[in-house]
Amino acid sequence: MTVYMDHAATTSTHPEVIRAMQPYFHDKFANPSGIYSIAKENRQKIEKCRQMIADTLHAKKNEIYFTAGGSEGDNWALKEIADTYSKKGRHIITTKLEHHGILHTCEYLERHGFEVTYLDVDIYGRVNPVQVERAIRKDTILISVMFANNEIGTIQPIGEIGAIARRHNVLFHTDAVQAYGQIPIDVACLQVDLLTASGHKFRGPKGTGFLYVRDGVKLQSLIHGGAQEQGLRAGTENVPGIVGLATAAYIADAAMEQRMKYEIQIREYMIGELLTTIPYSQLNGHPEQRLPNNINISFQFVDGGALLVMLDTLGICASGGSACTSASKEPSHVLKAIGLSDELARGTIRLTIGEETTKKDADYVIACIRELVGGLREQSPFYEDYQSRFHAVD
Ligand SMILES: *Cc1c(COP(=O)(O)O)cnc(C)c1O
Repeated sequence: MTVYMDHAATTSTHPEVIRAMQPYFHDKFANPSGIYSIAKENRQKIEKCRQMIADTLHAKKNEIYFTAGGSEGDNWALKEIADTYSKKGRHIITTKLEHHGILHTCEYLERHGFEVTYLDVDIYGRVNPVQVERAIRKDTILISVMFANNEIGTIQPIGEIGAIARRHNVLFHTDAVQAYGQIPIDVACLQVDLLTASGHKFRGPKGTGFLYVRDGVKLQSLIHGGAQEQGLRAGTENVPGIVGLATAAYIADAAMEQRMKYEIQIREYMIGELLTTIPYSQLNGHPEQRLPNNINISFQFVDGGALLVMLDTLGICASGGSACTSASKEPSHVLKAIGLSDELARGTIRLTIGEETTKKDADYVIACIRELVGGLREQSPFYEDYQSRFHAVD
């Protein structure tokens, strides 16, 4: 039995997506830049896909640029906005709990003469819009705040930040890789200028994604070469990937309300069961402003790494911090940013459900975690010590 509880790391490609992509590997393989009809058909198909994605965001077709995923979108937005607007200023505002696609790009920019303000977050992982406004300076050119966090699932007040950015005439980018396809997003209403999304996080193919860039924003090319993507992103288009991406976006959008309702129900059930039946446990992230699929819980007196290995032997795929940091021993920067001690951060696991997750899966995972946490604590000298002191006070 395999129970996959790591949908924030990646998702399985939807069967309809694979079906839609298939013809573009054989009959419809032509390079869209060709002059013959089968090339022209692919060119038209790409534009149709662009429109499909624009529709899900209430954006315009020409505001969507296809990329090879979330990391590329984040790099493109930050590096090229920084470069284009460097004459206006060299100050960027972001937060301490961004994905490394943003944080490491900011570090790169700092090495190239830009100054970055990393905003603190509250204990739920929320950025305070007042602090965003206070951080704006004369030379601020860009604010980048993620839509929803990949580790703790907290959703940011994007509309409020968008309004502030617009009022101060500062560009606003959001890494929406975890949010797009999961919760409704309207870029016009939220006053977002640039938005990153990635296909494989919403049942599209890996190595696909898009960057939304509002009309009027001056963006430069990250990949130089041919004239694809309005001359801004060179390279023969990944036609099957683009078709898969748009199909996944369409499906995710069409079934969103129903899926959100279902996932929230499973999420709340699992959180309730885990917290009430396992003592010394706590939920991380915001209780309500939270992605429908995210559960992040800390267990005191438990080594989360050991717990994950044991869950794996029982067929359960779960994660510690983010998948990207699982190889490092350092506790997650996100858990640090919300004020968790190193010890508690090490006892933290992330379970991210999906539309295929059943109640039976949930019950199995709850039972396994309960059993394993109990076992690990029995071996923990700290737990024994804590227990004896607790009872001594009694
Ligand atoms: C997964 C993820 C990324 C990176 O996306 P890739 O398509 O894997 O490059 C960026 N930001 C967030 C918030 C993510 O969860």
